[in-house]
Amino acid sequence: MSKKDTFIASLLGGAVGDALGYRVEFMKMHEIKWRFGEEGITDLVIDDYAGKALISDDTQMTLFTADGMIWAYDRMSERGIGSYAGSGVYQSYLRWLYTQTKSLPDEHYGWLLDPQPHEVNGSILEHKELFSPRAPGNTCLSALESNKMGTMWNPINTSKGCGGVMRVAPVGLFLHKDPAQAFEVAAEIAAITHGHPSGFLASGALAVIIAELLNGKSIDESAQSAMVILKKYPQHEETLAAMESAIELAGSEEKPVTAITKLGQGWVAEEALAISLYCAMKESDFKKALILAVNHDGDSDSTGAICGNILGASYGLEAIPEEWANQVELKELIADTASRLYDRYIKM
Ligand SMILES: [Mg+2]
Repeated sequence: MSKKDTFIASLLGGAVGDALGYRVEFMKMHEIKWRFGEEGITDLVIDDYAGKALISDDTQMTLFTADGMIWAYDRMSERGIGSYAGSGVYQSYLRWLYTQTKSLPDEHYGWLLDPQPHEVNGSILEHKELFSPRAPGNTCLSALESNKMGTMWNPINTSKGCGGVMRVAPVGLFLHKDPAQAFEVAAEIAAITHGHPSGFLASGALAVIIAELLNGKSIDESAQSAMVILKKYPQHEETLAAMESAIELAGSEEKPVTAITKLGQGWVAEEALAISLYCAMKESDFKKALILAVNHDGDSDSTGAICGNILGASYGLEAIPEEWANQVELKELIADTASRLYDRYIKM
């Protein structure tokens, strides 16, 4: 399998998991069962109007992360200085904010809406589907509206919502040759909007898992590598404990429904990572793992998206059910964005 296909698989896998879970994001398990039957939701639901299974803010923001990484890479290559978070991803997130609110935090940002040098073959802003609000996270919106860029050392708020971890898979893909850098950059990017250590450290950990899967490690080995790097950061204990619980439960006889309940609901970053990791380790079949990842009381689209990112990076494109891949909204843009990210990686 080509590495380019693995880039695509991780983002497409995330989109499929997001679309499966989005339909039941705010439902408790008893409500999911009442609506979809005893097995819960087991198939994508096609939106009547779009004719596709809708993605949510998780995948929308993941696309803006990938586009922002490309943007930052080009600017840094040209100028010789800068950072991924500050030289492209923050600006890309302001564009995302514009898609959701039709406004920018300051009028001098108007230039962000113009086509940029990194998008000679078309701008991400040309895709009108991205302007549809799909339950965007309030923390992401308010942090970006503040006109300040949060960092790990100068946190913008105390939020540890999963809005950071759900969008950083592209960082792990792009920087997979250097997992420690992938951690640092993903954590910085999450800290743009999420100031609690668990909010950004869980994001760093996911980026390492994705990176190490690209490097040929198993999911278990990738998680171990992520924990080694995680431990070097202050206030890592909560995220570390969540990951350890996920790994322990995946190796136990505990029934999945009980195990997931023990791991939490996924509204906060370390729980979203733990549930996603648990499901990816517990079940190697792509479809079954995603069904496991979205059928619970909590934040189903984010746990579906993160689990799909891991599964895609682990098992590749051919593991994604073809029907699901073809039904998901913006499939072509997702594949194209992943391909462009890969093309920059090759140039690096
Ligand atoms: Mg969502």
